[in-house]
Amino acid sequence: MTSKTCAKCGESKPTTDFFKDCSRRDGLSSRCKPCKNASNKDYRDANLEKVKAKQLEWHKANRDTQLKKMREYCRANREALKDYRAQYYANNKERFSERSAKWREKQGPEALAKRSRVYYERKSEQIQERVREYRKANPHKVNAFRRQYEDKLRKATPPWADMRAIRALYEQATLLTQATGIKHHVDHVHPLQGKTFSGLHVHYNLAVVTAEENLRKSNKPTPQVKQLLDGVVLAASENTHE
Ligand SMILES: [Zn+2]
Repeated sequence: MTSKTCAKCGESKPTTDFFKDCSRRDGLSSRCKPCKNASNKDYRDANLEKVKAKQLEWHKANRDTQLKKMREYCRANREALKDYRAQYYANNKERFSERSAKWREKQGPEALAKRSRVYYERKSEQIQERVREYRKANPHKVNAFRRQYEDKLRKATPPWADMRAIRALYEQATLLTQATGIKHHVDHVHPLQGKTFSGLHVHYNLAVVTAEENLRKSNKPTPQVKQLLDGVVLAASENTHE
C-alpha cells in the first residue's frame, strides 16, 4: 500500500502523508496530516485551558526523562548546536543587543559590577589566557591602548604632582610583585575617569594593590578619598596664588 484516501478531505494521498496510529488496522491515521493538524488546532483553540492543564501535567510527569533526553541530545550534537547558535545569533544580532541593553539597564551598575567580579573570579585563568592571546595577535591595538592610557595619565597629572613620590610607588609595586610572586598594580584610588568626577595622577591618589584587589574595587570614591581630593584641589588653587 503506497497511497490512502483521507476520511476527511477524500483525497488520495501517499501513505507518508498520514500520521502513524497503532490503534488502526493499517497503522495509519484515517485523516491525512493537514486534515489531522487542522482538527487538532480546532480542538486546541476550543479547549485552550484544558489543553494547557494537560500539557502541564504531562510535563510534570515526564520532566526528568525529558531533561535527560535533552542533555543527551546536546552532548551528542555539541558542534552542530554551536554552529546553529552562532548562526542564529548572527541573524538576530540587533534583537539580541537591544535585549541585552534593556537587561543591563534593569540590572543597574552595581549588580553588573558584582556579576563581572564573580565571573572574573570563576574564569580568571581562561580570561588571562585570552588576554595574552589577544595581545599577541593585536600588537598595534595594544600599542594604541597604551598610548591612549599614557595620554590619559598625562592629562590627569597636575604640574605640582610629586613625580618622585609617584615613581616610588610604581617601584614598590614591581618589588612586591618580584618578592611575593603575586602581581601588584598601582591603582588610582579614585579612577581617572570616574562617573561623578575624575581623580588625579598624584601620589595621594595612588595605592599599591594586588591585581585581584584592583578588580574588586568599586568605582565609587570613599569619603576619605573625596576629602583628600578636595584638599588637593584646594592646595592647587592656593599654589596659583603664591
Ligand atoms: Zn485530508
